Amino acid sequence: MSAQLLDGKLMSDELRVRIAERVALLKEKGVQPGLAVILVGEDPASQIYVRNKEKGCEQVGMHSVAIRLPENTTQAELEGHIRALNADASIHGILVQLPLPKHLDEAAALAVIVPEKDVDGFHVQNAGKLMSGLPGVVACTPKGAMEMIRRTGVNLSGKEAVVVGRSNIVGKPMAMLLLQQNCTVTMCHSRTADLAAHTRRADVLVAAVGKAKFITADMVKPGAIVIDVGINRNAEGKVVGDVDFDAVKEVAGWITPVPGGVGRMTITMLLENTVEAAERAALNK
Ligand code: NDP
Repeated sequence: MSAQLLDGKLMSDELRVRIAERVALLKEKGVQPGLAVILVGEDPASQIYVRNKEKGCEQVGMHSVAIRLPENTTQAELEGHIRALNADASIHGILVQLPLPKHLDEAAALAVIVPEKDVDGFHVQNAGKLMSGLPGVVACTPKGAMEMIRRTGVNLSGKEAVVVGRSNIVGKPMAMLLLQQNCTVTMCHSRTADLAAHTRRADVLVAAVGKAKFITADMVKPGAIVIDVGINRNAEGKVVGDVDFDAVKEVAGWITPVPGGVGRMTITMLLENTVEAAERAALNK
């Protein structure tokens, strides 16, 4: 293996110790940071994600509430739960687990969360702040990915960064964060002509597509930082990323594993965003 492993578990363990210290400081002041997660329906992957978020909260001493709603929940019922959490002083972060069942309007639901408690960073106000370079809540997955890139120690200024995927929750905020670090950023998507010609130029390559083994070794520049956001199940039911890890690790300079990479860091950043929200709330008390 030529690439250095960017170990999300190791980094998270270290970061969570610091988050737990911040939680303890807040508790001394009579504030216990609280995260509420709303899960609608029975999606098995979402159930695992919600359980992992609850475990993360327990690990750092945060209060956590999981509101599990049936598949046939109406938009009005969902928004009613969000409004109640907005008004609940023991809750500093609110997260609506996506995807929602098809009959529900995700954008409308996310817009109901007060921006200060939007620890996922998906509210248009927080997305707009990121776009405008203003301080706000940054979406957890790209924030975690940036922390992993930062830990390579590579000076990003002037580097070519290529993000494959343009979703609001990963691709777009990721591109903005790389731009803030003075990378020259290219965003690729399903209509990109000659994808490999772009990815081969990348000093930093972020894959957020949702297709197993999509990024192959011949698409990667030797020595590149390769960040694999994808979470997919292969034919054997094993969780794998978007990058052909075994082959790409022989070409890349740094690579994130799946599992134990960006996914782990995403939850750590959620905990960090929640403790930050609680710190802001404590200051404004
Ligand atoms: P979306 O489905 O919203 O976006 C996928 C993106 O990939 C789209 O922009 C799409 O382009 C692009 N794409 C699809 N096919 C191709 C192709 N052939 N060539 C180039 N681009 C293509 O997914 P998300 O952004 O929500 O998630 C991406 C992956 O990351 C998934 O595997 C998801 O499970 C995972 N994920 C992991 C998280 C973590 O914590 N690690 C958190 C969130 C997501 P177009 O816009 O043109 O359709």
